[in-house]
This record gives sequence, structure tokens and C-alpha cells, in this order.
Amino acid sequence: MSSSHIAGRIRRIKPSPSTAAADRANELRREGRQIVSLVVGEPDFDTPAHIRQAAADAMDKGATRYTLMAGTVDLRRAIAAKLERENGLVYSLDEIIATNGAKSAIYSAFAATLEPGDEVIIPAPYWVSYPDMALACDGVPVFVPCDEAQGFKLTAAQLEAAITAKTRWLVINSPSNPTGASYTADEYRAIADVLATHPHVMVMTDDIYEHIRYDSGITPHLLAIAPELRDRTLAVNGVSKTYAMTGWRLGWIAGPSDLVQAVNTLLSQSAGNCCSISQAAAAAALNGDQSFVERSVAIYRQRRDATLPLINAIPGLSCKAPDGAFYLYVNCGGLIGKTTPDGKRLDADGDVVLYFLESAGVALVAGTAYGLSPYFRLSIATDIATLTDGVERIARAVSELR
Ligand code: PLP
Repeated sequence: MSSSHIAGRIRRIKPSPSTAAADRANELRREGRQIVSLVVGEPDFDTPAHIRQAAADAMDKGATRYTLMAGTVDLRRAIAAKLERENGLVYSLDEIIATNGAKSAIYSAFAATLEPGDEVIIPAPYWVSYPDMALACDGVPVFVPCDEAQGFKLTAAQLEAAITAKTRWLVINSPSNPTGASYTADEYRAIADVLATHPHVMVMTDDIYEHIRYDSGITPHLLAIAPELRDRTLAVNGVSKTYAMTGWRLGWIAGPSDLVQAVNTLLSQSAGNCCSISQAAAAAALNGDQSFVERSVAIYRQRRDATLPLINAIPGLSCKAPDGAFYLYVNCGGLIGKTTPDGKRLDADGDVVLYFLESAGVALVAGTAYGLSPYFRLSIATDIATLTDGVERIARAVSELR
């Protein structure tokens, strides 16, 4: 079929670069190469047993049919209770809908709100899917570079400068994929003060990594700091990262009922309700024993603390300790301009990542994918032996550069 049959808004988007990097690593493995993949964006743990059991029980009890489009009452009650208990936010059931992962929540919210040419402010580095989702909905991503010196976080002054009459959304992801940066209460207050003077701007908070924090407990929520933004904020979240449930595809949105109901209408005519069994599992995850969360964060913390000094000992690389999420966003500026043993110059982080893959068999994702270079993302959602092997291979490859 010629590409003229494909809509312009789809021709504008590209497949996820992290998926592309994982695919390339698998291809090399099939060719017989030993590849250490530090690409994945998902917990390497199994979903806890009590959650799997709840899914089995749901199947046995016949919860195998369509559910309410917005999600079962049980699940939405569990989400409302979680929002109140953990975030101090009160939502009624008609202000919450379950979605097929946070990904579908974000896409559907853009689809339900963006008119052609509407702008979406995306602080960079950003999760790879935001810009393409905005483009697929005829929106215009507006990138604001938030460099390392500012902790990879958007400042109030940058936000003020980025807002135009066409701004529809500001997207905030804290802790962030790929940097792990998390906003403090003061930083949120400053952002909220700017938003106060621009009532047409809506805020999407992507809270998917809120529990994966390396200091004290859960990440503060923008709405807990600035409750006055409630009628124009959409809180997006899900069970994927917190409960190692990426495959169950269960997320949600909570927000003002007109917006949430618009998304509900769109989903009712497109995806339909989320998997009934996953809904039962997610309710059990939210209502049940939370000790898995603490245990898994302790393991990510050990991995972070074991890997960081190894990275920082490699000449030309540096990385500060992330506040949260399970990635290291490594500065590779010191390698740019160097030459590989077979005479190739490393001009950009994409070249660095390609060199590590081809010469050392380590798969990473280049910073260009996240909108801020020269960096690469290294996932610590894998065991310490693999991390150590990967970083030692990187160190050897770096030592061969001239
Ligand atoms: N938001 C961010 C920042 C992510 O990193 C991811 C997954 O990688 C998602 C959302 C999507 O999560 P889900 O599995 O719930 O669709």
C-alpha cells in the first residue's frame, strides 16, 4: 500500500525509540552475539502472588465479561481510596476512569482535547511517547530544554516563556523517565503561580513512577501543593511500574468530570473497557499488602548505588544520583569528538550508543530519543551482575577510544 493511504498525522509519528533499541538488541542476540540489554522500561520482578491470585479468583467467579466502560465500581473505589490515602486528593467515581495503561490514558486525553495546532508543553528530557502522541492528535509539541544544571526540571521562568495563546497542556512527569528528577513542593508552587495567570493551560501529571523514590516515600503531587489547579489538572497513573504489572495494561485518569467523561466517550467508541481480569488484579494491588513496593524500591536503590560509582569512574561519563524511577541518564559529553578503533568519530550520543552496542554488546537508548543530548539512558531494572557486566563492557569500550 502506498504511504498516501496513511493519514498525515500518523506519517508524522515514529515507533518508540526504546522499543527500536530493544528490537535491535534481540536481533543481534539471534545472530549469536552476547548482548547485555540495559534498555527495558519495566520492572524485572514478577507481579506479586496475591495480585495474580486475585486475577485467578476473578476468572473463577466469572468476571470475564464486559465491565462498565469507566471500570468496575470496585476498581474505581480502590483508585479513589488510593488517591486519598497516598496523595491526599479526593475524587468521586465519575471523576475516574480506568484505561489500558497510562499510555492509552495520555493518548486519549490528547485526542479528546487537542484542536489542530494546539500546543503541548513538554519539558525535555521527556518520555519518548509524549511528542508522538501529541502529533498523532494534531497537536504541536513545544519542547523546553531543562538541562542538567537545573536538575532536568522546568523552571517557572521557562514555563512563563513557553506559554502562548495556543497552549493547551503542560505535561509534568515526576519522577521522570528518563532522568528520575522529581519536583519539590517549592518548585511546584512556583509552577502553579505561573499557571494561575494562564487559566487556559491544562496540566497533565504523569505519576507513573511516584512510588519509585530513593529518599523519603512517595513523590509530592502537584495538586496537593496547588489544589486551585484541580479543575484543569488530569492525574494519570497506573499499576505497571509500582506493582510490576506492565503486561496487565491497567492505568487510570482522575480529573474534572467533563474532561474525564469526554475521554470515557472516546474510549467507549474505540478501545472499550479494560480487561475485566486486570481490573480485579489492579483493585487487589491497590487495596492489598503494599510491602512489595518498599522491597522493590530497596532493590532498585541498591542497584543505583552499585552502578553509579562504576559509571562515574569511567573517563568521559558522568551521572548524578536520580531521585526516583529506575534509570540513569548518563552524560556522555566527554566522549563526543573521540574516535573508535576502526576510525569512526563519535559526533553525537547516537554514535556513542551504536559504538557500545556494536563493539561491546551493550544496548542503551541515546539521549536524542528523550530530547536532550549528549546523554544515554541506562535502565537499572535488571540485576546487579548484569549491570556490572554492562558497565565493565562500557568501560573497556571507552578505554579503546582515541
Ligand atoms: N509514562 C511514563 C513516563 C512511562 O515511562 C511509561 C512506560 O514506560 C508510561 C507512562 C506508560 O505506562 P503504562 O504501562 O501504564 O502504559
